[in-house]
Amino acid sequence: MQKALVVLSGGQDSTTCLYWALKRFGAEGVEAVTFDYGQRHRIELRAARKVAQRAGVRHTQLPINTFSALGGNALTDGEIAVASGVSADTGLPNTFVPGRNLIFLTFAAALAYQRGIRHLVTGVAQTDYSGYPDCRENTLQALQQALRLGMASDIELHTPLMHLSKADTVRLAVQLGALDALADSHTCYNGSRPPCGQCPACLLRTKGFAEAGVDDPLLEALPW
Ligand code: ZN
Repeated sequence: MQKALVVLSGGQDSTTCLYWALKRFGAEGVEAVTFDYGQRHRIELRAARKVAQRAGVRHTQLPINTFSALGGNALTDGEIAVASGVSADTGLPNTFVPGRNLIFLTFAAALAYQRGIRHLVTGVAQTDYSGYPDCRENTLQALQQALRLGMASDIELHTPLMHLSKADTVRLAVQLGALDALADSHTCYNGSRPPCGQCPACLLRTKGFAEAGVDDPLLEALPW
């Protein structure tokens, strides 16, 4: 049986990808992995656990302590507030965690290797994306090649959202029956539930649901 490992951050995109994988590989063939990389908002980890539990898939949480030791970005450094817009120096938002996706996918590939899983699924997208270069298709293609060579494996990286807008992703979630699960997902960069509605991540999510003409179930969800 072909099996898939989904990198599950607990956000809207990875939750949708989990349901994409369930449809393609079946409930028995899907696992999820979440990384505790010292993110300021521990609510993300809770969201990932809830989403995995609801979907009934095996869920592994792995620690990566190095990003918080490095600091320098608004997602792992409590001294830095999330800013809107991009830095004049780098052209990137201050929520960019350099190397994050590369490391996540490498560790995920290592876990997949150990479990005999060939397919790795990630919710990165280069349309409507947050401006992160490690979410682009060329990065992912190069990484797949590096993982295949470095692990002597035929691992396949799947990026079902790569060319979808946020509104398309919402439509896909509806088609896949993932909408209810999105009530448990977490997006807000300020770590708020209910979401703050003001940060760049909330604004992107709100725009996607509005353009798709769908009500975001998170806004109706009961507090945990
Ligand atoms: Zn927010």
